[in-house]
Amino acid sequence: MLRKIIPAFTAVARMSSATTGAKLKGKVAVVTASTDGIGLAIARRLAVDGASVVVSSRKEKNVQKTVSDLQKEGLTVSGVVCHVANAEHRKNLLNEAISKFGGIDILVSNAAVNPTVGHVLECEESSWDKIFDVNVKSAYMLSKEVLPHLRKRGGGSIVYISSIGGFHPFELLGAYSVSKTALLGLTKAAAQGLATENIRVNCVAPGIVETRFSSALHESESAREAALSAVPMRRLAQPHEIAGLVSFLCSEDASYITGETMIAAGGMPSRL
Ligand code: NAP
Repeated sequence: MLRKIIPAFTAVARMSSATTGAKLKGKVAVVTASTDGIGLAIARRLAVDGASVVVSSRKEKNVQKTVSDLQKEGLTVSGVVCHVANAEHRKNLLNEAISKFGGIDILVSNAAVNPTVGHVLECEESSWDKIFDVNVKSAYMLSKEVLPHLRKRGGGSIVYISSIGGFHPFELLGAYSVSKTALLGLTKAAAQGLATENIRVNCVAPGIVETRFSSALHESESAREAALSAVPMRRLAQPHEIAGLVSFLCSEDASYITGETMIAAGGMPSRL
């Protein structure tokens, strides 16, 4: 039943966002890891809301398909391969926005990996390094690298994608959860220094979202039931339910919000 309702809900959400006007008109957005899941939903939503969007991920074929799909929807997008831990790729990503759309106003840092399962102190050093390289360092590096471009535009917006696990670590996703907590700190620290420059830095912490990344939590009925038991709304989030929040944070509607993390987790425990 839930599976029938959700696609209809998604379609309605897309239609309604398509008719809300162009609150990001004239803006240029770069979104990492945006050929699937939450990143794709964010790229689509920012474009529906009027932005020109550069999509990116590691695989060329995923980038090409996403650009083609979104262009068929009438959206203004371009795309480039970018493994976020690769400095040359990050440079290409920003250059793509500048050469195709003339500047950058918005960075959404969404890429993350989780190569291991287990208690935080059982994480191999190589996995720890990979998690922190992709989930934290690349977000930090991209923020540094995009900053001169935001300054040239007289302001802008950075949004990191963290996780509810950043507030309450998932025991079996120990190192991943700590990396997501680090993004909460990065949000606060980066926002402080930029608050007078019209550059806002915020973060979104999703609960469990139905994507490939979280498939272990929903591909079998028993796993899904166990996951749902932790969610007061008794359903998993769909990617577009995170995307709307990101678009809001990038828009003028959020002009007095910086250094904050917004939680979209169906009522899962977060903070007071
Ligand atoms: P997803 O559906 O599995 O999508 C992953 C996307 O990332 C794909 O486009 C993939 O494309 C790309 N990608 C993977 N590694 C990359 C890298 N190193 N550099 C650039 N692109 C990369 O994942 P998701 O669930 O949407 O997760 C997106 C973000 O949300 C992550 O930060 C995750 O931690 C966070 N989050 C997810 C959940 C959840 O329940 N799903 C909950 C909380 C937070 P290629 O294969 O082409 O690279």
